[in-house]
Amino acid sequence: MASGPGLKISIDEKRYPGSTAPTLSGFKAEIAPGSVTAILGPSGIGKSTLLRIIAGIDRDYSGHVTINGQPAAEAAPPGFLFQDPRLLPWLTALDNVRTAGVGVSIEQAIVALGKTGLAGQASLYPHQLSGGMQRRAALARALALNAGLLLLDEPFVSLDRALVEEMYNLIASIAASDGPTMLLVTHMAEDAARLANNVLILSGRPATITDQLTLSAPIAERDSNAIARYVEMIETTRD
Ligand code: ADP
Repeated sequence: MASGPGLKISIDEKRYPGSTAPTLSGFKAEIAPGSVTAILGPSGIGKSTLLRIIAGIDRDYSGHVTINGQPAAEAAPPGFLFQDPRLLPWLTALDNVRTAGVGVSIEQAIVALGKTGLAGQASLYPHQLSGGMQRRAALARALALNAGLLLLDEPFVSLDRALVEEMYNLIASIAASDGPTMLLVTHMAEDAARLANNVLILSGRPATITDQLTLSAPIAERDSNAIARYVEMIETTRD
């Protein structure tokens, strides 16, 4: 994977048509190359809106987002991981990974499946994969574009505990080995405590960054005490 880009985000205002108030206003952040940033806030505050703007999908806002100095709308498309795997049932795991973008080769898809431990399941269809494998296939699809930028939108919601642990460990190992820049949108302090170097706390309407925390312990080396301490720090700050 290409090493992760740096981002500069400056959203003066994002207002949906017909809405009386903007969803985002005065949102400014710099994201360091190869960092994992958690964007933490309650449901409905504007986190997915922000990710769509960063991905260059939503261009209907005032402001600027650059990825390695290039306007987001012109940059290579980022990898996206959503709440649900969104695999196409009529395609194999390999072909699902290849739907990540135009020109994802078989070799690239196999490499991406290998990173998520699914090299041996490439020819299976989604209904033949366990829930955990489906999540990993979705992560492989997000990695296949090789963009170095991964956008994760509440990827752990509705997963059972064992699967959450599996995904935390997998994403932490990819962060350590490949160094992508990751933006993780979540309402859960634990997600940030487990995976993030930086935490941006969103609140208010329109949403702005009201607090920012640095979590300096290396992600792969956080034990349960360090995680509990970080969760408490985040919860105290967001209250
Ligand atoms: P979050 O990801 O934090 O749950 P969203 O970004 O999905 O929040 O939504 C933020 C706000 O913008 C919500 O009030 C939501 O109703 C509104 N919103 C989201 N998408 C649209 C849309 N396409 N049209 C109008 N309003 C929208």
